[in-house]
Amino acid sequence: MIDALSDFQSEHPERFLFGASVAPFAKSLDYPEEEWESDFQKMKELNITAVRCYVAWDRVEQKEGELDFHAYDHLCELGLKYGIGIILNLGGVFSCLTGVYPPQWLVRKYGCKPPKPTPTAVAENASPRISICLDNPLYRRKAFAFMETVVKRYAENRAVIGWMSWNEPALPFCYCKDTQKRFRKWLQDKYNGNLAELNRVWGTEFPINYESWEEVQAPAGFGFTGGGLNAWRDWHLFTHWRLADAMGTIRDIVHKFDALQRPVTSNLVYSLAYYRHTMANLNLDMAGGALDVVGLSFYTRAHTGDTFDPLHKAYCLSRYRSVSREPSRRMWILETEAGPNVRQITEPQRKLNHWMALAHNVKCFLLWIYRCRYSDNQVGNFNMMAWDGSITNRARYNGEFSKMLQSHGRLMNNVSVGRTAAVFAPELQSILTLATHGGGLVPNLESAAKELEVCTRSLKGAYKFLWDRNIPADFISEWNLRDMNQYKLILLPMMENMTPEWAEAIRQYVEQGGTVIAESPFAFKDDDNFLHGRAPIFGLEEVFGAWTNDREGRESAPKMVFDNGGTADVFFYWHEWHLTGAQVLAKYETGTPAIVANRYGKGLAIMAGTEIFRQYFSEPQEATTALLERVATEAGATPTARVLVNGDDSPGSLVEVAKLDGTEGTVYIILNHNEEERLMEIFLKDADGLKDLETGQPFDGKAFVMPPLGGRALYRENVRK
Ligand SMILES: [Zn+2]
Repeated sequence: MIDALSDFQSEHPERFLFGASVAPFAKSLDYPEEEWESDFQKMKELNITAVRCYVAWDRVEQKEGELDFHAYDHLCELGLKYGIGIILNLGGVFSCLTGVYPPQWLVRKYGCKPPKPTPTAVAENASPRISICLDNPLYRRKAFAFMETVVKRYAENRAVIGWMSWNEPALPFCYCKDTQKRFRKWLQDKYNGNLAELNRVWGTEFPINYESWEEVQAPAGFGFTGGGLNAWRDWHLFTHWRLADAMGTIRDIVHKFDALQRPVTSNLVYSLAYYRHTMANLNLDMAGGALDVVGLSFYTRAHTGDTFDPLHKAYCLSRYRSVSREPSRRMWILETEAGPNVRQITEPQRKLNHWMALAHNVKCFLLWIYRCRYSDNQVGNFNMMAWDGSITNRARYNGEFSKMLQSHGRLMNNVSVGRTAAVFAPELQSILTLATHGGGLVPNLESAAKELEVCTRSLKGAYKFLWDRNIPADFISEWNLRDMNQYKLILLPMMENMTPEWAEAIRQYVEQGGTVIAESPFAFKDDDNFLHGRAPIFGLEEVFGAWTNDREGRESAPKMVFDNGGTADVFFYWHEWHLTGAQVLAKYETGTPAIVANRYGKGLAIMAGTEIFRQYFSEPQEATTALLERVATEAGATPTARVLVNGDDSPGSLVEVAKLDGTEGTVYIILNHNEEERLMEIFLKDADGLKDLETGQPFDGKAFVMPPLGGRALYRENVRK
């Protein structure tokens, strides 16, 4: 495996990547090229170390065969002259394989067709804005050839420090003949050429008897009468793969032709991480696998629908860090808001976001955008510099933040977030949960928002339990099943489905000493959505030491009673457990087991009869929470630090404390997400020698005030040999 990021960081150990996106853009007119040199002079003044731009095929090759790279050549000259690195976005934007739009001549000269959003849609390019399905063979061949040309041109140019394979990737379903052809090929691989097996798996809702692969068609829907769930699941997985495969192909082109082997990244939209990525067909696991370093678009204020909610931000940053294949799981922010749009981020909000990203392992900040577009929509939006390129107040404070990072570049690039606890969140479970409860894996996100809440609250609740207590939290999904043993505690929220592979990973984890906590409903269906009569399935009954064969609604629910006499309500569903070895941690008032714990191998498996994580999110029950806390502590999933916030050490203070370690030293980052100041006392086992990152003053361990939305870092450098 190419470890392009580590190579890059070892070549530039002192330089912390901080900057903004610059022209050329992928759409609309750029600000004048004659002014670029004076822009670079100002960037130097502002401590900018990196910029990013688009190599949009339709703008470079407006007529087939006539390629104009002069703007990129010029940018690279300036980058070398001023010591500012350049990241080139050579691949897709949104759902388009190249830039925002493909070259127009592909339609007029070769008749390339747009995607077909429904099976019966008429797909013709009939307006000035054209689109082409990324499965069109001619389009793919020519697009990948163009990207190869770009990589070769800058393969030895040291101004370039990285590549972006895709800007904010997402992909709608397509029913065109090229896509359906690839779907059939994908299905033949998945079912090992066994059509009878596909008929069996797809033919549960109504009989299906395809006699040849050519007869197989993509499903148009799902639901109670809409169509089979398994066909829909496969269609989703295929579309997830289709996007990740295109990203991976671009990554492979870079690896093949870039002599300097610079890392490939992509700005995944961070706010999609609660299941919405599933609907956008952005599979986080697969996308992470197609990148050298995971990158993000990190917008929290600028658009309608952005949220500054700290739990949401933390969850999404943790979710994306967890799919980074880079050994230290470093991430790059490739877009984050700089200037005005629907709303404008304020200076305290902007700095808190910078600190928070650092706390979650981000090693690059590129703001959107340096100077504003010169035409079309977004003129006067998002820009950090003034319209004429002069320096604004917001540019100054961002520049000062960069200056601080540059003075600690080696340390800040090196340290990373450790592993303590994780939430199990496989991508396949997201598809199955949404298909079962979501009412629609539909492109219209708003209409699905309510159903989405049902699906996501368990995940959010499990994460919130850890986050409220400053217990560092990651996510386990398909790709890192084998990393489970690096965690002390794993939470299993709303795992209705189970696969033999997941079950075996959980079994091994517990056997080797791990602690798991599962909420109901747990493992009562397999990944083809077949019921098995009793649960949990695939050998987990032995691991958890109990089973159930029914569930009831809250209307019939007794209270849960704990050993210490505390009581708690069930949430929505509830199970009684039949014991085959487990101990009872809580009973229902009727005397039957409600929460059970089983020693298995060296570890502990706990299973609750109700949705304790979903409940924690919206109606936390004191007795249940106390039990979860005790289990977490006994498992060794401890907080990064004990903190008193206004004299109180209760969880949920909205003060986050992160610890990052590395060979160069240690950094603590403290975040006050509250809109009011907080008096802080922080108790660290290793406080000796800590200094404040901004002021350099020794940390005296005494109480201090965190301003509203304040961020602060304490650091200690190891002595270099
Ligand atoms: Zn298509």
